[in-house]
Amino acid sequence: MESSTVLMEEMGFDSSSLHEELALDSDSLVNVRSMNEFRITRLQNRFNRLFGGILIMGASAAAMGCSSTPETQEETSFATIGSSPLTVEYSDGAEELAQLQYERINGMMKFYASQYDIQQDVLIRILNSDDWETQGPPYGMPSIRPGNPLVITGPATADGVIVQDVIQYADVVPVFLQEKLDGIGLTFEEAAQQYPDLIVYHEAGHAYQFNVGLDGVNRWFAEFMASYFMVNYTIQHDPEAAQLFEIMSYATYLDGSTPNYVTLDDLERLYADGVGMQNYDWYQKQLNLKLFSVYRNHGADFIDAVIEAFDGKQVTSEETIAILEKLYPGEFAQWAQDVSVTD
Ligand SMILES: [Zn+2]
Repeated sequence: MESSTVLMEEMGFDSSSLHEELALDSDSLVNVRSMNEFRITRLQNRFNRLFGGILIMGASAAAMGCSSTPETQEETSFATIGSSPLTVEYSDGAEELAQLQYERINGMMKFYASQYDIQQDVLIRILNSDDWETQGPPYGMPSIRPGNPLVITGPATADGVIVQDVIQYADVVPVFLQEKLDGIGLTFEEAAQQYPDLIVYHEAGHAYQFNVGLDGVNRWFAEFMASYFMVNYTIQHDPEAAQLFEIMSYATYLDGSTPNYVTLDDLERLYADGVGMQNYDWYQKQLNLKLFSVYRNHGADFIDAVIEAFDGKQVTSEETIAILEKLYPGEFAQWAQDVSVTD
C-alpha cells in the first residue's frame, strides 16, 4: 500500500480537499448552541489538533456533531441493531458480524456505565466495500469520528487493507507466534481476518478516553488509553478477544526487517505520516503489548490513577511520561526510549 495509510483514525493520508472540507465544517460549528454541542465541538477541535482532521474526511455537518442536521437518505438505508446509546448499522450480508460487534460493544458500554456517568451515543457502521465511504480511509481500515453519536466504521469483509497487510506474513509466522495462535485455536489467516474487528473494539474505547477527562492527552497516550479501556473490559468479559488482540500485536515486521523509529518521541513528533505505515502499525502494536504488561501489574487501578492524575489536562508526550513515571516508577521512562517488545 503506497498511500500513507495506517491503522485506524489517525492515519495520515494526504488530501488537501479534506482540509478544505474541515475548514467549512469548522465554520459551521460556530453556531452551536447547547452545552452538549459545545463539548462536542471542543472534543472535535482537540481531535482535529491531534489527528490533523484526517478522520473527518467526508464529514457532513451532522457528522461533525451538529445534531440538528438531518441524516441523509443514504445514512438511514441500512439495517440496524439496537438503539440509543448503541446502534449498529450494517451492509447486506453483514448481520452476523454486526450482531457480534453489537454484543461486544454493548457489553463494554454496560460495564462502564456503572462506573462513569457519560452521555455518549455510539454508532457502529459495518460496511462492505460498496457502501464504504469513498472519501474516507481505504476499505478495511476502521475509523472513528467524534461527535454524538461517536461514529465508528469498520469493514464487513476480510479483504480490506488491514487484513492484507497482516496476511503477507502468513508464510513467515515465527514458532512462538504460531504456538500462541494454536493456544486459541486459530490459524494465522483466521486471526488476521478477525483483527480489524478488534480495532473497531479499540475505537469504542475512545468513547471513554474522550469522556473521562482524558481528551487532552497527547496522541500516543490517547491510543494507549483507548486500548486500555477495551482490554480492561475484554480481559474480564471477552477474554478470547483480549487474547487475540494481544497475540496479533506480535504480527509486525515478521519478515525480519526492523522499524526505523522506536522511541515515543519519534512517534509523537513524526506520527503516522512521518514514520510510515508499517512503522506506525508497529508502534500501535508495541503500545498494545505494553498496556497488557501494565494491566497485569496494575489492572483497572491504572485507569483510576490516570484519570486522577491527568484530570482534563492538556499534556505533551514528555509530560505524559513524567506523570506516568511518577505514578509508577520504572514503568515508563526507560520504555519510552525504545518501545520494542519482544516475546
Ligand atoms: Zn485509536
